[in-house]
Amino acid sequence: MQIKSAEFVMSNSDVDKCPKSRLAEYAFIGRSNVGKSSLINMLMQRKKLAKTSGRPGKTQLINHFLVNKNWHLVDLPGYGYAKVSKKSKKTFQKFITEYFKNREQLIMGFVLIDSRHEPQPIDLEFMEWLGENQLPFAIIFTKADKLKPKALERNLKEYQEKMLETWIEMPQYFVTSSTNTMGRDEVLQYIDQINGTIDLS
Ligand code: GDP
Repeated sequence: MQIKSAEFVMSNSDVDKCPKSRLAEYAFIGRSNVGKSSLINMLMQRKKLAKTSGRPGKTQLINHFLVNKNWHLVDLPGYGYAKVSKKSKKTFQKFITEYFKNREQLIMGFVLIDSRHEPQPIDLEFMEWLGENQLPFAIIFTKADKLKPKALERNLKEYQEKMLETWIEMPQYFVTSSTNTMGRDEVLQYIDQINGTIDLS
């Protein structure tokens, strides 16, 4: 897919106020500093479409971008556990779970994972939560350029092994770098392919 246009539509913290149009939507989510803004800018070939963070605790907003005038890319805030009593099961911030559960236009979530780190409980638990709620997602490993090929391979293998403790098969995944555009064509092609098969109207 060629990116002919990418424009900011709106930011808000309320799922009900997200755009009403029936365009297919793809949401990007991950822990803060995972490289989400850089990835979005790399995919869209724009330097400052998504704002690179560096500011933990900034307002948590759902950001919609209109791409090629026919689908929405959604930049979600970094997830964290909701503050609930220690005894109860860990849950995620309400507006993120509400977005995933209630947003009919959402076709697929992309869960971003820093390829340098070993599997983190919060990421694994978020994917489990998506699975329990039958919400489709794919994994995007970020910052692949920061590792030597052998180390990258080893980390990916370890991640797959960890996933297979819970999942029957490894979800669809992509390996990306925002500095050298690795994985860009694959992610865009994947979205394009899905867009060609769906009709939300
Ligand atoms: P966000 O908080 O998830 O939006 O993360 P950012 O996109 O702001 O990136 C966090 C930091 O990681 C920044 O210093 C980026 O320059 C750096 N970074 C992000 N993606 C990559 C990448 O693919 N390669 C390298 N080398 N650095 C990256």
